[in-house]
Amino acid sequence: MKLSDRILQIQPSPTLYITALAKEMKSQGIDVVSFGAGEPDFDTPQNIKDAAVDAIAAGMTKYTPAGGINELKQAIADKFVRDNSLAYGLNEIVVNCGGKHSFYNLMQVLLDPEDEVVIPAPYWVSYPPMVQLAGGKPVILDTNDMSDFKITPQQLTDSITPKTKGVVINSPSNPTGSSYTEQEIRDLAAVVEGKDIFIISDDIYESIIYNGKKFFNSAMISEDFKHKTIILNGVSKTYSMTGWRIGYMAGDADVMKKVGILQSQSTSNPCSIAQWAAVEAINGDQSFIAKMVETFARRRDLIVDKLNAIDGITVNRPDGAFYVFPNISGIRGFDGWKKIESGLDGDSFSSKFTEQLLKDANVAAVPGIAFGADDYMRLSFATSDELIQKGVDRIAQFVATLR
Ligand code: PLP
Repeated sequence: MKLSDRILQIQPSPTLYITALAKEMKSQGIDVVSFGAGEPDFDTPQNIKDAAVDAIAAGMTKYTPAGGINELKQAIADKFVRDNSLAYGLNEIVVNCGGKHSFYNLMQVLLDPEDEVVIPAPYWVSYPPMVQLAGGKPVILDTNDMSDFKITPQQLTDSITPKTKGVVINSPSNPTGSSYTEQEIRDLAAVVEGKDIFIISDDIYESIIYNGKKFFNSAMISEDFKHKTIILNGVSKTYSMTGWRIGYMAGDADVMKKVGILQSQSTSNPCSIAQWAAVEAINGDQSFIAKMVETFARRRDLIVDKLNAIDGITVNRPDGAFYVFPNISGIRGFDGWKKIESGLDGDSFSSKFTEQLLKDANVAAVPGIAFGADDYMRLSFATSDELIQKGVDRIAQFVATLR
C-alpha cells in the first residue's frame, strides 16, 4: 500500500549511516573513535536526578496539563528574567517533549501548505524535514566558513516572499558553533520589522558559549521584537539532560495556546517526572554549567589547533556549542584522494570522505552534506581529551596518505 506523500518526501538522516557503521565496527571489537555525539558527555547533575526520584516518591506520576506544570513554566519565566531580562507570563510559555518536539509542534501550528521558512545553512539536520512535514517549504540560505557561517541582512532581504512565515536563527549553532553578535542579530531582525514574519530563535546552546561572549536573541531588542520572536530552548544541552525530553518555547500567547492544544490531541504532557527534574535544573544550583563550559572550552582549543595543523583541513574556532565544522574541501584536489574517490559509491564528497575515514582510520565524523554543506564534516568535542588527541592524530595520518 502506498504510504503518505508526507513521509515519502522525508529522507533518512545521512548521519545514521555513519553512526550505524561505527556501532557495527565497535561491536566487532574495532577501536573506533567517535566524534558523532550530539550531546554533552557529562552525567546529569545529582540534584536533578534526586528531584526526579523525589517526584516519583511524592506520586507526581500522573497526567499533567498538556502544556506543562505551572511550577516548570514559572521556573522558565524566572530563567528568562534572570538570563535574558525578558518578562513572560505563564500563558506565553509552553513545555514540550524535547527541543525537537518544540520545533515540530511550532511548524504544525504556524504553517499552511507552501508557506516558507527561511533556514540558514549549515543547518541542524531536522529543521528542513520538520518544515516539510508541516506542508511548508524550507528556503535555504547558504553560508560558508569565510563569513563564519553567518547570513547577511541582504541575503535575508532577498529570501523573503509573501509566503515567508518564519526565519530560523540558531545561535550558537549546530553544526558550526558560530554565534551572532548583538549587532548582527539587530541587523537581521531589522529586515523583518513591520512584516508578518516570526523570528524563530533556537537558543538550545545559549549557555554553551566561550570567551565571555554575550548571548543575545531578537526578543531582547524591544517589546515589538519580543512579540515577533518565538524562543525555543530546553534543558537537554545546558544540563546534560538529552534523555529526559524536556524542551520549551516562549512567545505570542495565542501561538503557545495552540501548541498546547496540539499537544493535548497528540502527545499529551511531557513526562511528569522529567518536568519536576527540569524545575530543579532551572531553579537549582547552576554551577554545573560553568564547569562543563570550561571543559568544553579547553577541548575546543585542543581540537581546533590539532585540526588546523593538518594540510588540507581548515577550521574556525567556534564561539559556542560543542562542535567544530572543518572545511575539508582542500582534500578534493589530492591525487591519492582522487584515486580512491573514483572507486567509491555515494553521492556526495563529504559522505564518501567520512565513510572512508571510518573504514581506513577508525574515526567516525558526520558528513557536512547532512547539514547542507558538502565541503565540511562535523566533529563533536563532547568527548575526552585523550580521544580527541587520538582521533585527530588518526585523521592527520589518514589525510597524509591521500596526498
Ligand atoms: N536544536 C538544535 C540546534 C539541536 O542541535 C538540538 C539537538 O541536537 C535540538 C534543537 C533539540 O534538542 P532536544 O530535542 O534533545 O531537546
